[in-house]
Amino acid sequence: MDDRDELTDLPGRRIFLRLLDERIHEAEGQGGTVGLLLADIDRFTQINVTYGFACGDRVLRHLARQLAAVGRARDIVARVGDNRFAMILPGLMNRGHAELAAQKLLRLLEVPFEHDDARLRLQATIGVALYPHHASGAQDLLARAEFALALARHEDRRYGFAPDGSDIGSLSYQWDLELELANAIDRGELSMFYQPQVALGDRRVVGVEALMRWNNRNRGMVPPDVFIPLAERTGHIRKMTLWAMNTVLRQTSQWRHDWGALSVSVNVPSELVAHSDLPDMLRNALQLFGSDAIRPMIEITERSLMVGDRALQQLHRIREMGVRVSIDDFGTGYSCLAYFHKVPASELKIDKTFVSRLLTDTASADIAMLIIDLAHRFDLDVVAEGVEDEATCEKLASSGCDVVQGYFFAKPMPADACEQWLQAFGRVETKPTAA
Ligand code: C2E
Ligand code: CA
Ligand code: CA
Repeated sequence: MDDRDELTDLPGRRIFLRLLDERIHEAEGQGGTVGLLLADIDRFTQINVTYGFACGDRVLRHLARQLAAVGRARDIVARVGDNRFAMILPGLMNRGHAELAAQKLLRLLEVPFEHDDARLRLQATIGVALYPHHASGAQDLLARAEFALALARHEDRRYGFAPDGSDIGSLSYQWDLELELANAIDRGELSMFYQPQVALGDRRVVGVEALMRWNNRNRGMVPPDVFIPLAERTGHIRKMTLWAMNTVLRQTSQWRHDWGALSVSVNVPSELVAHSDLPDMLRNALQLFGSDAIRPMIEITERSLMVGDRALQQLHRIREMGVRVSIDDFGTGYSCLAYFHKVPASELKIDKTFVSRLLTDTASADIAMLIIDLAHRFDLDVVAEGVEDEATCEKLASSGCDVVQGYFFAKPMPADACEQWLQAFGRVETKPTAA
């Protein structure tokens, strides 16, 4: 069966894997190197949201044409995801050549794109993996390039190579990661970090978001953008979320500080929102570790709201237990506004892609303002995440945003460091006298 992408007329994922496999076999015979570049268009959803899907489609077609034109005759370009392109580079001389190709690709992807009167500046992130250096098969090579991409994004680099220390000939990398994830809790490799949330009105700390970290004994820190999706795919996420809820309530209820009761948010993936025992999981955790010092909250994404009435019923049960609901990454999904008012939420979080461009991109600023208005109309609080500087903070304050979270105030930190941060924050500033 043919699997060409209709929109771009490039090979789709299946053909791509077959072609990659063929190139690897050829290289195997000749002792050659094959490079795999995986490129993600950053904030592509934002283009769809702001300029419409027709524009998003034009952007993709434009990129596909350019990519196909830039490669050498034997290079292969494919579309392997919604906003993800792959390029196979057979017969590479060395790592430096892959690096050059990545840089060239980045320049190409960043060419401004004209749409009506607007010039859209695109940005991309690239992950690179090499056969035979990083993996010996097509699937593994793809997994390594995906990992490199997530790592580069996590570290805010434009491109990056897959880490060395490959396990060629042994288990596939992905499978290995999966196996290790299964044991991560038991080995004590998971921990929860906390990032403070500050109210813009009086700069009081009003809460923290709990974020999971995995420090693997062999690989070191594995980014959440890699292991959370993996946990979701492999079914480990339920156990991990249960562990997170208990750990977070236990740790935060013991903190000493004079900020009053803190809102404490735990991320819950959409798969679990419709799951029948989410309310029970929460109730058990609260019975064990609930305390007047914390106000528990779950962060769900818009995707959770698409799964229907069952999810809504669950959310209502959760609300009745006194656990509040926050809608995370708001504006990046396919929010159905008609559905929206039925959701028993108390907070919207503006995604950091909009926040980080608030001062430089009018479309992002408009979206942020719209979200703030929408939230207040429905009597919800608004949290802006990813606030990295004072100017953004001020802009958000003047736009009526309630709470901010971001590196400007603090990065996520371990429980004891966060407790100390809470004790120190605002001591020399204008903290209102504790009631
Ligand atoms: P998220 O829920 O949107 O979390 C916010 C992310 O933004 C965190 O990334 C945080 O470290 C990062 N961040 C905060 N302030 C700034 C800033 O000023 N600048 C920038 N550039 N980034 C900032 P992190 O910790 O890497 O987590 C990534 C994602 O992984 C989370 O996105 C969430 O979707 C998922 N995740 C993390 N912990 C958990 C968890 O315990 N359970 C579940 N289900 N998902 C989790
Ligand atoms: Ca979150
Ligand atoms: Ca978020």
